[in-house]
Amino acid sequence: MKPINLYDLDQAALTQWMTAELGQPKFRAAQIWDWLYKQFALDFEAMGNLPKALRAQLAEKATLGLGTITDELHSSDGQTKKVLFQLPDGQYIETVLMKYEKRRTLCISTQAGCAMGCVFCATGQMGFFRHLSVGEIVGQVMYFAHELAQTGDHVTNIVMMGMGEPLHNYENTLTAVDRLTAPDAFNLGARKITISTVGLVPAMRRYADEQRQTPLAVSLHAATDEERDKLIPVNRRWPIAEVLDACRYVVEKTGRRITFEWALIAGQNDTVEQAQALGKLIQGMLCHVNLIPLNPTAGYGGAPSSHEQVDKFQEVLTAYGVSSTVRVRRGIDIQAGCGQLRDRAVQGKAARVKGG
Ligand code: SAH
Ligand code: SF4
Repeated sequence: MKPINLYDLDQAALTQWMTAELGQPKFRAAQIWDWLYKQFALDFEAMGNLPKALRAQLAEKATLGLGTITDELHSSDGQTKKVLFQLPDGQYIETVLMKYEKRRTLCISTQAGCAMGCVFCATGQMGFFRHLSVGEIVGQVMYFAHELAQTGDHVTNIVMMGMGEPLHNYENTLTAVDRLTAPDAFNLGARKITISTVGLVPAMRRYADEQRQTPLAVSLHAATDEERDKLIPVNRRWPIAEVLDACRYVVEKTGRRITFEWALIAGQNDTVEQAQALGKLIQGMLCHVNLIPLNPTAGYGGAPSSHEQVDKFQEVLTAYGVSSTVRVRRGIDIQAGCGQLRDRAVQGKAARVKGG
């Protein structure tokens, strides 16, 4: 039988499994829950308050990890680290830790690959493989929480900006968020977890109806449907006007500000016309714009905008009363843009096979 990933279970399911499957008293489940979410356990051997026989039984029937780490990269400034996990079924996912002065931000994946096909995105270029389970989403956080704890440090923020479209995997993503924020589990503040979406309108409305307190970022990237159609295929299904209506609904229902993501691509979506169109669309809305010069990828010919053009774009937004921040993508030198590390692993393997 396939081992069960204990990070896939909620507390009731863990208790049920421990009592029914292993014939253990309930308090053992409580001890394990504590090992999982307060000690970020990655193996059973460390669980010193459990009898040795039980630890051996657990090791046989269950897992805690995400499979194997097949690649690990550190940025030249030492502040960004990226890990590529190969899951038991062979799929790859990436997780990035970014250290700032006070923050320890994790960028986590919610799917292996992505079905949305955004042309500039390395994950979009590889296509969709499968959704991640709750345990696979939570497990990325536990891996780094464990590592940071070795030096008395901890995860302060999470962004769901790794591989995949979080709202396409709605149930598992939001169950993982609930687990990460529950006081008796990982206990991170809901406001510390940002979910980024390409703009899946029905899921955004559901998110609003559930009055979710996790901040939402929406990848807009263009202010006219003509331009956005070229970059983001799902724009044909849910065009800009519908995405913005859903954004207003989220703001109304949650009282929280929306962040718009905008990857600046030279000569494409970085023109004064696009900035003006964006200013007109969102002026007066409770929102903020993150401007990120494009991170070049193998499958897309676009180039990042120049500093001058970024400044010009930002000036136009300011004139419309729209606040914005120019962000530098962290860890460009370690291919920390989503999906890029997996590309390297798969291509490397293909090359090795070719070479015999
Ligand atoms: N699927 C979600 C979250 C993952 S992508 C979404 O699209 O929002 C996280 C962010 O990285 C998105 O804003 C996405 O548009 C952006 N992104 C993807 N590829 C990029 C690239 N090559 N350069 C800059 N930003 C990129
Ligand atoms: Fe998927 Fe987001 Fe990449 Fe688009 S940008 S392909 S939605 S991961």
